[in-house]
Formats: sequence, structure tokens, C-alpha cells
Amino acid sequence: MINDEASDPPERSADLAAQAMESMVEHEMAPSPRNFRLWYNYHADRPVGLRRALDVVIANHQVFTEKTVADIYDQFFGVDDQQVSLTEIADRLESTMSKVQAFVGTAEGDTKAYGQALENFTGQMTVSVKDSTSLTSLITNLITDTKEMQVQTRTLEERLHKSTREIEELRKSVDELKHEAETDALTGVANRKSFDEQLMRLADLAEESGTPLSLLLVDIDHFKTFNDTWGHQVGDQVLKLMARTLVENVKGQDFPARYGGEEFAILLPGTTLADAVIVANTIRTALQGKKLVKKSTGEDMGRITISIGAAVYAPGETLPGFVHRADEALYGAKRAGRNRVVSERELPETAGAAKSPAV
Ligand code: GH3
Ligand code: MG
Ligand code: MG
Repeated sequence: MINDEASDPPERSADLAAQAMESMVEHEMAPSPRNFRLWYNYHADRPVGLRRALDVVIANHQVFTEKTVADIYDQFFGVDDQQVSLTEIADRLESTMSKVQAFVGTAEGDTKAYGQALENFTGQMTVSVKDSTSLTSLITNLITDTKEMQVQTRTLEERLHKSTREIEELRKSVDELKHEAETDALTGVANRKSFDEQLMRLADLAEESGTPLSLLLVDIDHFKTFNDTWGHQVGDQVLKLMARTLVENVKGQDFPARYGGEEFAILLPGTTLADAVIVANTIRTALQGKKLVKKSTGEDMGRITISIGAAVYAPGETLPGFVHRADEALYGAKRAGRNRVVSERELPETAGAAKSPAV
């Protein structure tokens, strides 16, 4: 769970609930459970980014339309709901598996019965082999049993095929849901949840293997002004372009993600800080090289620039400490005039936490 409404003490939840009701009235929204949940957590200031997402709508004087609310809800609580679907799928998978087991059990029983019939036949054959009438009837029985066995085997095969197909479909659904839960809906790159997981995994790997792990934090310059001038929807297109540019300019193991709002992050395993700065500058110049034209009117919207902060993981340090250094470097880039890359090594000693050794 990304939120923990359940663990709010009663007094606090009464307070938050009252504020949520007020907000729904203020923004002329129906008091539905979904709207209530959004505002309740808005006032509780979680999960990270929810408050900002709703504030963006308010600041842009946008109406909370059904779609806007659904998008924000999905972004912050969709994973919770997908978790429910995953549990349902796991249950279905389990019930299909037990059906298969039951078929196999039946098959074992049938084979035993058939084996028994064969034994009876051989037994009776030795006694009555000279009696041709009984022999005919024995063979007739055996043929009937064999046919019966064939029919049962075929039915079993069909059932097994059907169950296999069902399991394959379920597995596909699980994979799709997993992909959805890890992907940012707007830009198609990994989302924050997925970034956090990769950061943990890659930091462990860096520690074990002694190879460097670099991190780039990317933030669009003056994006608020861009949104104010061209509208939020055009802004969303720029975020997509930004994501595409990241994907186009990184290689195999590198991991680009939408960190939140208009900020992106890239994890670069096996990459020194100096090389990470080179990658960062490639991305920066690639984006700056794209002329933005408004499709509907042909208007020239100028160019977008970005600022990037770079840091390298210092084995043993905390992950928030590592991200914080990249963030400090990013703000260093903003302070220095934007449209540039700053590495943690360029920061004054006081700005960063423990400096990592040169790699
Ligand atoms: P700076 O150069 O200092 O980064 O200036 P800025 O205007 O980019 O920075 P600020 O953090 O003040 O504003 C970020 C803006 O990003 C605010 C908001 O309008 C925009 N933004 C955040 N998320 C989204 C989004 O999903 N879509 C769009 N279109 N805009 C977004
Ligand atoms: Mg920002
Ligand atoms: Mg910005």
C-alpha cells in the first residue's frame, strides 16, 4: 500500500475527513469514495506528489473533470487497485491448478481400472483358453475397455489443453498488469515505484561488484512558464518528447524513469561520474536541438532546455543520501543559470553530504 489511511489515529482521520468534505464542496465535486480518498490523502500530504498534482490543477484554474480526477487517482492509487487484481488472478491460477490436479487424479484411477481389466483378462485367458466362446467374449470386453480408456484419455487431454491455455492467458494478464504497475502512463517510461526498486537493486549490485553506479536527475527549465503559455496538454506532449529523448540516448542497462511531475531520473550502472556527465550532455543537446512547433496552428514554440544533476553512488551510503546529492547538483545547475549539467564534484563542500571517492 502506498498510503496508510487505515493507520491514522481516529482524531486525525476525523480531521482529515472534515477537510476532505470541505475540499469536495469547494471544488464542486460529488462526494464519491474516490473523490473523498483523493482529498483525504491530499490533506494528509501523501503519497508523495499527490498534493502537487492536485495543486497543479488548481493553480492552472482547471476544472476537476471526470477524466482529470480519474488520471490522478490512477497515478497515485492505481497500483493499489492493480494489487487487488493480481490477488484475484493468483486465486484463479490456484483454482485452475487444483482442477488440473483433480484431472490427473482421475486419470490415475482410470489407468488403474484399465490395468485391472487387463489382469482379469490374462487371468481368465489361462483358465479358459480352450473355450472359444468365452475367449471371444473376453476379447470383446477388452476391446470395450480399451475404447472406454481411449475416450477418457482424449477427454483428459482436451481438459489439460484447456487448462494450459487458461494458465497461459492468466500469466499474460499478470505480466501485463505488472508492466502497467511499473510504467508511467503518460510517457511510457518506468514510474517512480519502479525507479525506487531499481535503485535498490542496482546499488546492491554496485556494492557487490565494486562497479560504479551513476545517477542523473533531469528537470525541465521554466516548465511552469511553458505550461502557462502553451497549455498543460502541450506541456504533456513535451514530457513525452523528453521521455523519448532519454530512451533514445541511453544504452542497454541504463534505466530512465519519470521521477515525478516534470522531473526524470536515469540510473547508469557500470558508469563513472565523468561518463555519466557525457551522457547527460548528449541528452541535453539532443533535446535542445528539437524545434517545437504547435501542431494545430504551426506556431513556433521555441526550444526546451533542461538542467541535470549527476552523482555517483558511494558504497555503504543510504539511498536517500545518494539521491539527495544528485538533487543538490541539479539545483546547482539551476542556480548557475540552467541548461547545463552539474556533477556533485562541482558543488561547494558544504552543499553535498559525504563526498564519494573518485571513480
Ligand atoms: P525551473 O527551471 O526552476 O525548474 O522552473 P519550473 O517552472 O520548471 O519549476 P517548477 O517546479 O516551479 O514548476 C514545475 C512545473 O511543472 C509546474 C507544473 O506546471 C509542471 N508540471 C508538473 N507535472 C506536470 C505534468 O504532468 N504535466 C504538465 N503539463 N506539467 C507538469
Ligand atoms: Mg521541478
Ligand atoms: Mg522545472
